[in-house]
Parts: sequence; structure tokens; C-alpha cells
Amino acid sequence: MGARILVVEDNPDNMKLIEYLLRAHGYQPILALGGEEGIALARAERPDLILMDLQMPGIDGFRATAAIRQTAPQQRIVAVTAFAMVGDRDRVVSAGFDGYITKPLDPTSFIDQVNAYLPAVKTEPSRDVRTPR
Ligand code: MN
Repeated sequence: MGARILVVEDNPDNMKLIEYLLRAHGYQPILALGGEEGIALARAERPDLILMDLQMPGIDGFRATAAIRQTAPQQRIVAVTAFAMVGDRDRVVSAGFDGYITKPLDPTSFIDQVNAYLPAVKTEPSRDVRTPR
């Protein structure tokens, strides 16, 4: 089975796009529409990777990530963000994320970006239709 990926995202359109792309490539998305739900699902599901939106009402992506790391310090968490503000990039790096994917999402490169943060055993090369054999 493909990797189990928890998506924490408050924007329904972004969520739909991410869910579609992950499913199309054989991954199993787990969806959380906010930080609080994201923390609960991270603890309950122990996903292979978390894609974390930063700007969310209530518990934002920084606080959710800090809370998740308290009980699961090795959890892979990647920020998904538009870097709207000067200094955001530095803040994301210093907050201890494993990396970041920038918005607006690029559907053609999104899965490659996700794969870069997964252990090789969890990626699905057999589904890579771009490589003719
Ligand atoms: Mn958001």
C-alpha cells in the first residue's frame, strides 16, 4: 500500500486538490480540516508523513506541529505555505519542519515534492507513468 499521509488544511479547495493528487498516485490521505483535528489524527494514526498548512484559524500549523512533536519527535512534517511575509521561510526552517512545499500548489510537481520526504520504500515507482519501459 502507498504511504499514509495526513493532510492538515483549512482551505477546502486546496484540500480537494491535495486529496485528488495523493489518491491518483496510490497514497492514502487522512484529512484534517484544522490544527486541533490534525493533532488528534497525528496521534491516533501515526502517518508516514504530515502535510501541514501553516495559516489556519484556531491552532495554526506552527502550534499544531509543536504539539505533535511533543509526543512524536520523529514524525515527518512538511509545511505547505505561500510564504506571504518576508521572513516566513526562515521561520519555517527554524520551527523544525522537515521541509516545505510552496503554494500555489503545482499539480505537475506536487507528487515529486511529496516523494522527496517519504522513505524510498513508501514511494510508488511502478505507478510512474512518465517513465516508459
Ligand atoms: Mn490555510
